[in-house]
This record gives sequence, C-alpha cells and structure tokens, in this order.
Amino acid sequence: MKKLLIGIRASIKLIALFAVCSMIIIAIIMSIYKPIYSVTFKGEMIGYSENRAALQAKILRYQENGNEDDVAFVQMDEMPEYKLCFLKRGIETNDDEIFSIVTGTGTTYYNYYAVAVGGEEKAYVSTFEEADSIVNQLKEKDSKNAKDLSIVEKYETNKQEYKTVEVAVNELYEKKITQEIQSNMGRVTRAGNGGTTYKPISIAFIKPIQATITSRFGSRWGTTHKGLDFGAPLGTSIKAAAEGTVTFSGWNSGGYGYLVIISHGNGVQTYYGHCSSLLCKVGDYVEAGDVIAKVGNTGDSQGSHLHFEIRVNDIAYNPEYYL
Ligand SMILES: [Zn+2]
Repeated sequence: MKKLLIGIRASIKLIALFAVCSMIIIAIIMSIYKPIYSVTFKGEMIGYSENRAALQAKILRYQENGNEDDVAFVQMDEMPEYKLCFLKRGIETNDDEIFSIVTGTGTTYYNYYAVAVGGEEKAYVSTFEEADSIVNQLKEKDSKNAKDLSIVEKYETNKQEYKTVEVAVNELYEKKITQEIQSNMGRVTRAGNGGTTYKPISIAFIKPIQATITSRFGSRWGTTHKGLDFGAPLGTSIKAAAEGTVTFSGWNSGGYGYLVIISHGNGVQTYYGHCSSLLCKVGDYVEAGDVIAKVGNTGDSQGSHLHFEIRVNDIAYNPEYYL
C-alpha cells in the first residue's frame, strides 16, 4: 500500500515536471515563432496576415459598399485563401497590400438615378432624393415635358457625370408654347368705339413694336378694324409678340400686303401686316421678341405702319387688352 502511494506521488511529480517542461518549450517556441496566416489569391502567395478575421471583414465591407457613396456593390469573383502556419517573428505582415490586391480585381457597380423624358435619360444624379426633387420642380413649373418625366434607378459599372438639381431643372424645363385658353370665361366689354369682346388668353404678349398706336381696334368707317395700327418709320423692326410657329410669310392680296402670321397653338394667332420686308419663313419657330419683319406701307395702307392682330379661332380680339 505504501509502495503504491509512493509510486503515485512519483508519477504526479513526473507529470508535473513534464508539464512545466512543455510549457517552457512552448514559451521558447512562441518567442521565436508565432501563428500567422499565409494568404493565397488566385493561386498566388500574396503575403501574410496576423489578423485574418479583421482583414476578411474589411474586404467584405468593401465588397458591399465600395469606398464611395454611390457604389452599389463591388463584384469580386474570387476571395483570398488563408492558411495557418508558424513563422519566425519578424516576418512582415502586409494586410494593406493584400487588401488592395484583392479589391483591385473587383468590378464596381455604381448606383445612381437618371431623370428621363419620354424614356430617354437626360440627367444623372447620385441620389433618389435629387431625382425626385428635379421631377417635382419641373411639375411645379408646369414644364411642357412634366408628364413624360420618369426616374430610372441605375446599376452600372460606369459612372455618369452628375448634375446638380438646379442645373438639371434649368436644362430640362420646357416652356409651354401656349397655355390653355379659358374660353368659357369670355366677357363682353364696351370700350372705345363700338363693342368689343374681351377673351382671356393666358399668353403673355409683348408689344411687337416700339411705336404709338395710330388707329385702334373696332368700328371704323362703317367697317370693323380688326387690329391695332402702330405708326412707325419704314424699316422699323417688327418683333414676334409671343413664341410660336410662322404659318404665313408672304404677299396677301386681301389688303394686308406683305404679311406674317404666327400660330401660338390652341387656335391663337398674331398677324403683322403692311410689311416692307419679311425676315422669317413658314415653319420657323420664333421666340417672343425675335425680329420677323420690317415696317412698310404695302397692301391697303396709307403711310408706313404696322397692322397688328390677335385672333383666336379666327376671331379678332382687341390687342390692347393683351399687350
Ligand atoms: Zn390696321
């Protein structure tokens, strides 16, 4: 019995001694060698990392977000492989280099937004909020293309040049050629000589000429004068009173002489008669203020002047109410 106890004690001593020795050996090994990961990518050794978890997490984060705000994701067809090994201390780890080698092979997909008019992409912005703001502002401004606007979400490998909201709104805004005529709001006004119908036309007309009125709209010598006469020297510039398309530019044998007619849409037309020369042709699109003709004395006219009319569905209205 005693012998057995002595034997056990000896064994314990031996085990303890062995354990202490092992620990010393491990400590010695650890002071020379350390656990490290060798990193292989696409079959090639690209370096060593001490902290595999941190490095891999950084690569995955990059894959999800890239390094710019507008990156949707980065497609990488391969991931690095890590192998645990013990290497002598003093071996350089190169996590940063590994990161740039691995991420450098990825394909970046950008996420941004296009504002399209009738399906055609016209402006690009980096966020949905900006695209939404462009569309809303154009709608508020009652842009002609407002109902054809759409927002397209883009996932592309190539980036587009982004525009600011302000620039995009300015570029895409299209003024309506004519606005709706509130036709049933017409009212009759007594003015000047003879009654004349006043019809609201929501087009902003400008004066076609800087000159004084020499003859007004209304009854004159037993007939109705359908426009305004502006007395002006021969050759004075005549400007388009509003934007529109030239529908007539030529000789009128009915007394207007050389005549220009501009159509502003919705049946609204302006007439410029007795011109000496015509500076536009049928089909031309003119802006308000564009010089379209020169004052003359052609047709049924006494003295050089501009005869100006505003017609809606071929009925002449007193231009004085609209200029
Ligand atoms: Zn006249």
